[in-house]
Amino acid sequence: MCGIVGAVAQRDIAEILVDGLHRLEYRGYDSAGIAVLNLDKQMQIVRRVGKVKALDEALDANPLLGGTGIAHTRWATHGEPSETNAHPHRSGNIAVVHNGIIENYEELRSELQARGYPFQSQTDTEVIAHLVEWELRSAKSLLEAVQKAVVQLRGAYGTVVMNQAEPEHLIVARSGSPLVIGLGMGENFLASDPLALLNVTRRFIYLEEGDVAEITRRSVDIFDRSGVKVVREIHEGNFEQDAADKGQYRHYMQKEIFEQPVAIRNTLEGRITNDKVVVDAIGANAAQILKDAQHIQIVACGTSYNAGMVARYWFESIAGVSCDVEIASEFRYRKFVTRPNSLLITLSQSGETADTLAALRLAKESGFMAAMTICNVASSSLVRESDFAFMTKAGVEIGVASTKAFTTQLTCLLLLNVAIGRLKGNLSEEQEKHIVQSLQRLPAQIESTLVFDKAIEKLSEDFADKHHTLFLGRGEFYPIAMESALKLKEISYIHAEAYAAGELKHGPLALIDSDMPVIVVAPENDLLEKVKSNIEEVRARGGQLYVFADHDAGFSDSEGFKTIVMPKVDEVTAPIFYTVPLQLLSYHIALIKGTDVDQPRNLAKAVTVE
Ligand code: GLU
Repeated sequence: MCGIVGAVAQRDIAEILVDGLHRLEYRGYDSAGIAVLNLDKQMQIVRRVGKVKALDEALDANPLLGGTGIAHTRWATHGEPSETNAHPHRSGNIAVVHNGIIENYEELRSELQARGYPFQSQTDTEVIAHLVEWELRSAKSLLEAVQKAVVQLRGAYGTVVMNQAEPEHLIVARSGSPLVIGLGMGENFLASDPLALLNVTRRFIYLEEGDVAEITRRSVDIFDRSGVKVVREIHEGNFEQDAADKGQYRHYMQKEIFEQPVAIRNTLEGRITNDKVVVDAIGANAAQILKDAQHIQIVACGTSYNAGMVARYWFESIAGVSCDVEIASEFRYRKFVTRPNSLLITLSQSGETADTLAALRLAKESGFMAAMTICNVASSSLVRESDFAFMTKAGVEIGVASTKAFTTQLTCLLLLNVAIGRLKGNLSEEQEKHIVQSLQRLPAQIESTLVFDKAIEKLSEDFADKHHTLFLGRGEFYPIAMESALKLKEISYIHAEAYAAGELKHGPLALIDSDMPVIVVAPENDLLEKVKSNIEEVRARGGQLYVFADHDAGFSDSEGFKTIVMPKVDEVTAPIFYTVPLQLLSYHIALIKGTDVDQPRNLAKAVTVE
């Protein structure tokens, strides 16, 4: 999914580019590279395996001078992370960085090899460099060559092309991967995310699908997919600068876990008044759509999918509307039947999740009544392309393993349920008031959970030598178990599975022995007796139990059975509440395992490739 930064300026820009890459590391961090044109029109390329820091160190030792350049932090899709596969890729005078996947690269590679181009890397990206070089031989300009090249590409890309023969000049093309142009005074920039450029500008133009733009120091010319010159709006950003400060915390993830009370408070702000949800705050003109919706289709990936799974229980029990939840990468490639008056809801932290975005675009042609998104980034593609967006106010989330984005998504989903329930006449004033007040109490209750941090840290020692863990829950706590298992896998690399507790005896019980920790979320509620039976099934087979519950659930410690007694909270908000101690548990286990908590291996934050 990678991060791209580029600049055309009169000053030396290597440092700006590398600073931008550091800010984009959430998008990928297996290798990084930079190409800068110096005053003698010589292209200098430096690439390093590993994080941006390695590139930074290489440039400290041998600084690059020059005002035109491109840089890239990679998340490999084709070819291992190596110096040869790192971007920029070069062909003659051309250097290219690319975000995404070129699906027809094998075909193009054969054609280009037949024309005599030698391939150095295993990447799909290298075909872009050679293709542009080829087209430039007969084109009037680099712009024309790129325009001719991109129409031959299939797949998703954000790409930037630089030509050694034309300094002070970059061509950028967007199709499926985000790219933004940053406007300066006598200098211009571009990046995958405005965050990369906040040190140099606050004025941005978001490229649209199919756009190709020519950027010089003094001009930005944009052409749409049919080659017609277009004017795109300039956004003056009021961006959150430097969430990139860890403050007193050891990791961003830890900081973000502890920020959840504030994030939820911010998410509730302006959305509740007099014990009621403000429907207009969900989206202008949303009320009629929410009232008319007869079915909800949620589409998401990863942690956002788990949030959708929790919400499915709410949509049917609170809003009184049927709901399906599907993984975006499945939804987009399956023939589905759109039910009458279906509302599509996409969930994504970044708003750039490639599969979710593709699902949204597909749904727009498939008879959905409307598409809304619940998202954390206001400038993102999902927000711009949906009919309305209900923003989570989590603030910038940097840790790759999502925490506050998940709990604020759940907060938004609960507000949305209340709104729909009321609009449809399925929720009484009293019930609405109860849920709203529960939500208002939630931030303080989460604060009170965070004091369990030390106890959970102690508990995490039990997992130091474990290779597998099972998570169990029923009802809304089943997807909370799913999310907790995902968190543990992501950051500790311990294999973790979640099961609906009732499903245990249909297979996974065979795994239980004294070496298998089983974590159960079991607060007092209607399903508790059922969960207790499942706990007994594990206990009878020597499984090691760790039960997160409140006092009323009536558990106590015994041999092979540890309870983590949480304060009693309202049933409706309990799934959000119980997420937090389980995040802390994963975090502490990862610390013991010594993993890279904020940037776990093989992952990236914004998944902008499918
Ligand atoms: N597909 C390209 C590669 O593997 C780009 C991946 C990315 O978006 O970082 O190099």
